[in-house]
Amino acid sequence: MGDWIDKAQAVETLFQAQALSTRAPEGPPACGECYYCGAPLKDGRRWCDAHCRDDWQREQDAIAREGGVRSW
Ligand SMILES: [Zn+2]
Repeated sequence: MGDWIDKAQAVETLFQAQALSTRAPEGPPACGECYYCGAPLKDGRRWCDAHCRDDWQREQDAIAREGGVRSW
């Protein structure tokens, strides 16, 4: 019992990582840390989740609007 739950979670994590990498083709390469909050990440991910990615993107957009240089 419980084995299928572990598998489902593993698959979900995989899909999540895939969604992150396909939905955000632009940007920096994975560096082992979340680009927004600095949390350690693996599997080539660049953000913990969509929230971190979106917040980071907003930050980058704001920097771009202000005429600054992107950090990547
Ligand atoms: Zn994060």
